[in-house]
Amino acid sequence: MKEKLAKAIEELLSYARSHLYLRDEDVIYVRNLLLEELKVEEPYKGEIDEKAIAALKTPDAILDPIREGYAEEGLSVDEIDRITDRALGLLTPLPSEVISTFDGLYKKNPELSTTYLYNLSIENDYIKKSRVDKNILFDAKFEKGPMLEISINMSKPEKSNKDIAAATKKADVSYPRCLLCPENEGYIGRPGHPSRGNLRFVPLTLGGKRWYLQFSPYVYYREHCIVFLEDHVPMKVDGFSLASLMDFADLFPHYFIGSNSDLPIVGGSILNHEHFQGGGHELPLLKVPFLNTLKGPVDGVVLHEVDFYDTVLCLEGKDKAKVHEAALKVIEAWAHYDNPSLNIVSHDEEGRHSTSTIIVRKKEGNYLIYLILRNNRTDAEHPGGIFHAREQFAHIKKEGIGLIEAAGLFILPSRLKRQSKLVEEAAASGLSYEEMVKKNPDLQGFAGMLSSLKHGLTAEKYIGGICRLILDDVSVFKKDEAGKKGLHAFLQGTGYGI
Ligand SMILES: [Zn+2]
Repeated sequence: MKEKLAKAIEELLSYARSHLYLRDEDVIYVRNLLLEELKVEEPYKGEIDEKAIAALKTPDAILDPIREGYAEEGLSVDEIDRITDRALGLLTPLPSEVISTFDGLYKKNPELSTTYLYNLSIENDYIKKSRVDKNILFDAKFEKGPMLEISINMSKPEKSNKDIAAATKKADVSYPRCLLCPENEGYIGRPGHPSRGNLRFVPLTLGGKRWYLQFSPYVYYREHCIVFLEDHVPMKVDGFSLASLMDFADLFPHYFIGSNSDLPIVGGSILNHEHFQGGGHELPLLKVPFLNTLKGPVDGVVLHEVDFYDTVLCLEGKDKAKVHEAALKVIEAWAHYDNPSLNIVSHDEEGRHSTSTIIVRKKEGNYLIYLILRNNRTDAEHPGGIFHAREQFAHIKKEGIGLIEAAGLFILPSRLKRQSKLVEEAAASGLSYEEMVKKNPDLQGFAGMLSSLKHGLTAEKYIGGICRLILDDVSVFKKDEAGKKGLHAFLQGTGYGI
């Protein structure tokens, strides 16, 4: 192992010179840091293939032999990631250098700056690209209605029992305060808190406050970025978050940017730290046509009804302050709108239930503010949420429907790959649902898939169809007559008449 590590150090130094901007003057110094870090007494004296290293896209070919060595010694994936992330962190430019390079490129062209930070995050292994590439992606197309995108996420590492045991025994450490706090930059990680040894981010000013831009290690789509507020404060959909999103759209017009809503069930997985998600991918929602375009109370701003499965409105205009004013009016009107005949109750004894998921982008100088109307109320009949995936779809998606799914890209659990294959086999051998579940108890709930497959549908088609039905469930105004009437009554109340 010592020999493997010593060789990897020399290869990593060569890799960092060609990929991570390591300067010749810094090589001896960083070599000594790595020798200490990896507990190697002296450098490797043999040859390394510098030409092959220069051609690498990621450091995997260098890291894999030492990953295997550590695995043979009994270390878990998380423990090995902590070691390799720390090593790559030492080889990555310091945050101040990353920021000055980013800013220099930004002045030439904003796209160059985000491409730089994205590529750096892949090349220094913060984004573990080879794991992400294992995700199964497919489009779900329908005879009528917009397409959806499905990703079966194979890249989030399965937790080992050892890690879970260590996390339960962990000391009550409150540093870093959460996964999105700025003190994660370079943090080594611990059981229950992932390694951030090679994380780099850059500061931005949005809405008059300091935020940071980084890329998501799980890249659910192309250039999937996360923008988080410097302060650890809960997510809130309000005038400040809307203004901050619009400022981001000014700075990076080649990206969309969105905020999850600020309530459980209809929000993202982290509600306790204000943050956005964005990126270079055109989510299915952003490609669909507008239905009606209505004029309203704010001059120069129109409201489009968007032809999507959940309830989406889009405000459009050129004047930033006016678009902000018009969108905020709709957000606030929705937050207080009640229509008990459609099950829409904005407030009850449990508190507030209505909120919006917001996506902002700029197109030909116009601001487009997409508002996905959400409500998280539950009742006896719908313990998971009245406007949430119905219980019988839990075999496909259990978690809350956040911004990315609500906009048409579904991130589904890795178990579905194995389960789909087992259901395919059961269908091919003509098993009944009961026989299939007896053989594989975790296929409970897959009766619909089994029957669809027996009728010639593919697993992908079946999964796509369920995702579409989930978005119908999420829709607060259904597509039937009562729903359409309700939506128009709501719009009329905010000054947008048909
Ligand atoms: Zn935080």
